[in-house]
Amino acid sequence: MTEAVKGRIHSTENFGTVDGPGVRFIVFTQGCRMRCQFCHNPDTWKIGSGGKEVTPDEVLAEAMKYRSYWGDKGGITVSGGEPLLQMEFLTELFKKAQEQGINTTLDTCGKPFTREEPFFSQFQELMKYTDLILFDIKHIDNEQHKLLTSLGNENILDMAQYLSEINQPVWIRHVLVPQRSDYDEYLIRLDEYIKTLNNVDKVEVLPYHTMGKYKWDDLGLAYPLDGIDPPTEDRVTNAKTLLHVNDYKGYLNR
Ligand code: SF4
Repeated sequence: MTEAVKGRIHSTENFGTVDGPGVRFIVFTQGCRMRCQFCHNPDTWKIGSGGKEVTPDEVLAEAMKYRSYWGDKGGITVSGGEPLLQMEFLTELFKKAQEQGINTTLDTCGKPFTREEPFFSQFQELMKYTDLILFDIKHIDNEQHKLLTSLGNENILDMAQYLSEINQPVWIRHVLVPQRSDYDEYLIRLDEYIKTLNNVDKVEVLPYHTMGKYKWDDLGLAYPLDGIDPPTEDRVTNAKTLLHVNDYKGYLNR
C-alpha cells in the first residue's frame, strides 16, 4: 500500500464567508516565500515545519462535518500561506472533494508558478480538479511588487496569462494599501491588464487592515507598514471604480 501524501497546514476555519462563493471550509496551508508587508498571517511563512501534518482524507473528513451549511455555492477553499508549495497534497484533496461534488477553490498569489517541469505538469493536473481560483495580484508594477512583497511579479502575471489561455475561472483580488498600491496610476494599469484576460469572473478590492499586526509583534518582527492607516472609504470606492468591479458578474450571480 502506498503511503498517503501529507500536507502541512497552519489552521482551518469552519464558516468562511469571504474566500470564495457561499459559506466555505477554509484550509490555511503552512509555508510561503513572499514577504508581503501587509501579510496578516506571518505565522504561516515557515516552510517544512510549524503547523501540523495531515492527509487529504483527514482534511476532507473534517470539512464534511460542515457540508450542510454550504448550500449550492459553498465548498472548500485552500488558502495560505501559499498552497501551490504543496501541490501533490492539494491535488489529492481537490480530486477527492470533487468526487463528492464539492466546489474546490484555490486562493493563491501565484508566486511558485512556472511553465518549467516538474511544476507545470503538476499544475495542469491540479487545474483539472480546481473549480475557481482566487488570484491575488499584489502589485501590477514589478519594481513596486518587489518592494511590497520582496519578490517580482513576472511569473505571477505569466500564471494569470496561462489561466486565461485555459479559460480557468478566476476572481482577481487586490489588496489596497495606502502609499504602496493605492495610486490611480497603478490601479489604471492593473485594470488595463485585467481587461486583457478572458477568464475573469469577478474583481475584488480588499482594503488593507492592521488586524494581523500583533502577529508580527509576537514573532519579534518589525511591522513594515507601521503608521499607515487602512484606506478611506473614498479611496476604496475609487479603486473599485478604476478597476471596474461592477463590470464583472461574479460566480454567485450565475
Ligand atoms: S502571499 Fe499571502 S501568506 Fe504569503 S506573505 Fe503574502 S499575504 Fe502573507
